[in-house]
Amino acid sequence: MRFFNTLSRRLEPFESRVPGQVGLYTCGPTVYNFAHVGNFRAYMFEDLLRRVLKHAGYAVTQVMNLTDVDDKTIRGAMAAGVPLQEYTRTFKLAFFDDLKTLAIEPAEVYPAATDHIPEMIELITVLLRKGFAYQSEDKSVYFSIAKFPEYGKLAHLDKSGLKAGARVAQDEYDKENLADFALWKAWDEKDGPVAWDSPWGRGRPGWHIECSAMSMKYLGESFDIHTGGVDNAFPHHEDEMAQSEAATGKPFVRYWLHCAHLVVEGKKMSKSLGNFFTLRDILAKGYSGREIRYVLLSAHYRQALNFCFDALDGARASLSRLDEFRLRMEQASGAGGSERNLPAYAEEARRLFFDSLEDDLSTAQALGALFDLVLEGNKAANEGRLTAGQARGIVALLDECDTVLGVLKKPAEQVDPAVNELVSQRQAARQAKDWAASDRIRDELARLGWTVKDTPQGPQLKRL
Ligand code: AMP
Ligand code: ZN
Repeated sequence: MRFFNTLSRRLEPFESRVPGQVGLYTCGPTVYNFAHVGNFRAYMFEDLLRRVLKHAGYAVTQVMNLTDVDDKTIRGAMAAGVPLQEYTRTFKLAFFDDLKTLAIEPAEVYPAATDHIPEMIELITVLLRKGFAYQSEDKSVYFSIAKFPEYGKLAHLDKSGLKAGARVAQDEYDKENLADFALWKAWDEKDGPVAWDSPWGRGRPGWHIECSAMSMKYLGESFDIHTGGVDNAFPHHEDEMAQSEAATGKPFVRYWLHCAHLVVEGKKMSKSLGNFFTLRDILAKGYSGREIRYVLLSAHYRQALNFCFDALDGARASLSRLDEFRLRMEQASGAGGSERNLPAYAEEARRLFFDSLEDDLSTAQALGALFDLVLEGNKAANEGRLTAGQARGIVALLDECDTVLGVLKKPAEQVDPAVNELVSQRQAARQAKDWAASDRIRDELARLGWTVKDTPQGPQLKRL
């Protein structure tokens, strides 16, 4: 297995620190609004990564934080005139609903920043003691990037123009404003009632220290993989790495993976640009979570993905082809038998599918392999070469692929075996030219809520 590591800017073979186990930290939502599909591109890529690791046999411990205190959440709560906790609660709950809609597997731990203030204070205390941090005249505590020569290694920063002692208090800033960043922000009136006691006076943590404290608490001082959208690489992850490594003296993370943006007409989908759709907006237009999931999975995670409704329509068509194929394979599996095997073309599709995913999550190639399987399987069935055992093997393979994709519907769970049996009987009646029996069975199927269409690929069941 190999992944593109932002730290080295290279594809690197993946080796976990502890054999068979992976510690994965995925920066979670800032719960100040409903997440938009751009955010879900990041969570979807992380879900895919987690599922691919699991399929390869790793036990994955994924931690996804909830940023429930930062500049944006405080601003939102103040504007709405409600307490911070109450304000963020709505969006936390919405976020978990959205994850379900998209069939994103739950992480093992969802730590909220406000539940980990003591851990953050502890970490800042260590940084002050070791001389990597200082308290400024405004009472806030800053990380001194000059004290940490390796600062800039993740985002490959050019530090030549750096002004010694310059400081930045906001959570988000760009490379032009490279400076000492806030670990602890002294209270000011913009924070309203949001403040905690600390050895440096009342205040609140900076965004970056939140993720350092929570990741190391649950995954240890060094762990395997840290991910996020590409906008997280600087300053958030750069700052996280500097704080963590300065405090522990150990390498923080082995592999840093970042997904490219979901874009709209060439621009990053974001709340600040106003060019965003929440998941709810898209569901309201009649698309399903499954279709959205398919679109987000279909492009490689390191390539910009242009969001448009045509892509959702394309996903609908692709999924219906996959559904029809699955149904056909189920029907060809016959009733009763259990022996299963894979024809050579399906073995090849399986190999290509999983090899592609283990090669830096190459989803487009993996989906290509899946559609080759559809083509070959249909061809074999049309030519009468597909045995029931092979059809069963293919259904099992689709299930296996779906442990990673999470988009292939499972009609087997919805179609009563008695219904499949009736379809087989009707097929036999038709072959015997017993039209009366065939019509009787069709009426019986209709009574059970199914219609059957005879196609060149054989009978196809559809819900009435
Ligand atoms: P935020 O809630 O702004 O902290 O973002 C949560 C996650 O979504 C982070 O990993 C971001 O990098 C990611 N993200 C935000 N906008 C986009 C986008 N347009 N495309 C892909 N990922 C994004
Ligand atoms: Zn983070």
